[in-house]
Amino acid sequence: MELRELGRTGLKVSSVGFGASPLGNVFGTVSEEQANASVRLAFQSGINFFDTSPYYGGTLSEKVLGKALKALGAPRSSYVVATKCGRYKEGFDFSAERVTRSVEESLERLQLDYVDILQCHDIEFGSLDQIVNETIPALVKLKEAGKTRFIGITGLPLGIFSYVLDRVPPGTLDVVLSYCHYSLNDSTLGDLVPYLKGKGVGIINASPLSMGLLTEAGPPEWHPASPQIKAACQTAAAHCKEKGKNISKLALQYSLVNKEITSVLIGMKSLEQVEENVAAARELATCGIDEEAVSEVEAILKPVKNQSWPSGIQQS
Ligand code: NAD
Repeated sequence: MELRELGRTGLKVSSVGFGASPLGNVFGTVSEEQANASVRLAFQSGINFFDTSPYYGGTLSEKVLGKALKALGAPRSSYVVATKCGRYKEGFDFSAERVTRSVEESLERLQLDYVDILQCHDIEFGSLDQIVNETIPALVKLKEAGKTRFIGITGLPLGIFSYVLDRVPPGTLDVVLSYCHYSLNDSTLGDLVPYLKGKGVGIINASPLSMGLLTEAGPPEWHPASPQIKAACQTAAAHCKEKGKNISKLALQYSLVNKEITSVLIGMKSLEQVEENVAAARELATCGIDEEAVSEVEAILKPVKNQSWPSGIQQS
């Protein structure tokens, strides 16, 4: 598995990262055995980057991931763990007090002394000025206290990243995590890459399958995309299937091609999915991407290309 430098952090993370939201039963029930086996196979296959949040499954994902990582018996320095703060099953709270308490709770659930990355989770649901003036300074203190090695922000609307990065001292933030903006149906993150690189932050792209849109099984019921986007993605999936191809493999490979984006976080919940996703990365490295299939899928998705959905509160 290819390792890539994450911005200026000095961390080398696998190009395919393990998204652990499915371990919180977000995409259907996952047994603990299944979770442990998936994490173990991922690690043995060279995936060293694991992302979770207290929000996923109302803390379940952190607990399950923590157990699975411990069961590896591997040196702590051999894997990179990212979690988040500010978003919970109960709602959002980006106050300094809550995020400071949050990391302690996460460390306990993850059974770790420190996390590698702590990110403010989905900041468009909070006041961005509070994020700049209160939350990030609290995260800086947590970094100084050794609770986390690096800090970052996550969210859906791309404008949040420049809003925050333009208002904090240079070098304050180490990473940004964008999701659903660098996959076959929406690649708008690509336009922001030069700006983000100029700011020196590591770029993480989550949800290469657009949270299940680019799968044969289709998205979960809660998926926020419009019926038009869902229908176009299902047509593309059916087209690939008809040609003996797999839309999920193509979608992951499409995201991995852009090496300016350090890691692509894909949600995994079974041995089969880990195997398929690792194989997709290996195939890409040796054979390249199936350009013909990409063109055909892009043509099908053209009417909905780069369409997203609203997320967050109106900022004052
Ligand atoms: P995704 O696009 O990775 O899709 C996940 C879905 O695809 C799951 O149902 C999974 O079981 C399925 N899947 C995985 N591999 C497959 C394969 N080979 N074939 C068919 N289906 C497959 O979406 P995601 O899980 O939401 O995103 C990945 C990770 O990124 C999350 O787990 C989370 O860690 C992170 N993330 C963070 C944020 C945020 O911070 N705001 C938002 C979204 C995602």
